[in-house]
Amino acid sequence: MKQWMLALGLMLSAWTLQASNLPFQMTYGEWQQGSVVAVQLDSVQQLLVDDKPLLMDAQGNSVFGIGRDATEVGLRWQDKDGNWHHRQQAIAPRTYDIQHINGLPNNKVNPNPQEVAEIQANNRLVAQTRAKPSVSMTPQLPMIWPTAGRISGVYGSQRVLNGEPRRPHFGVDIAAPEGTVVVAPSDGQVVLVHPSMVLTGQTMMIDHGLGLMSIYVHLSDMNVSVGDYVKRGQLIGKVGKTGRATGPHLHWGMTWRDVQIDAAKLVATAVPPSLTGQ
Ligand SMILES: [Zn+2]
Repeated sequence: MKQWMLALGLMLSAWTLQASNLPFQMTYGEWQQGSVVAVQLDSVQQLLVDDKPLLMDAQGNSVFGIGRDATEVGLRWQDKDGNWHHRQQAIAPRTYDIQHINGLPNNKVNPNPQEVAEIQANNRLVAQTRAKPSVSMTPQLPMIWPTAGRISGVYGSQRVLNGEPRRPHFGVDIAAPEGTVVVAPSDGQVVLVHPSMVLTGQTMMIDHGLGLMSIYVHLSDMNVSVGDYVKRGQLIGKVGKTGRATGPHLHWGMTWRDVQIDAAKLVATAVPPSLTGQ
């Protein structure tokens, strides 16, 4: 009987230890779909989020992202004594704008095979760039809006064309006149500059460190080169409508590794500055 109670007590204390204290302070973000989470780790050797080991700076800062449809994330960490801990963290859901459009002619729904191949090559290049976070830098959070204008598209929205769900829209669209200045929202290193992707036209990517990268799409001009370090607020390009765009706007996307997160959640204000005065 006594042994049984002791065993139960040990199990309970182990469970309490594992389920209670997370080994970090959250310094930015929230447990919500599309959010970035920045943490300051303390007495931890390693932290894995959904089995992906996190990059960490010398001060113990780390970041990770939560996907559009995540309902929970698995956190696994190893303390300084080498013991592993685990916790499933519940994620707050969001509602997304889903648009059903039916009766479209088929050639509007599916691009031709040559275009498909080129689009796939463009996507591969972007994915390969995201897979190699290289800059040793800690993202500055919150960031600033990269341009002024009106939000014309939001994270997570999705169209269903003739019953076929399309890839969700993962960026935030900011409508602004062609030539409006685009600045770096945070320090980083330019890791991709492409003059003519099929869908996204003049396309740029910036690595902000610890796996966090941003993308700028439909630009009319690009003012930096691959390898350049940019400071928050520095001119990087101009708003345009290159690629597949119905009007001039900046599509601004943010990823942690291959997880698409909501760029608007990385900025302190809900909307970008207005164009008044420009
Ligand atoms: Zn967009």
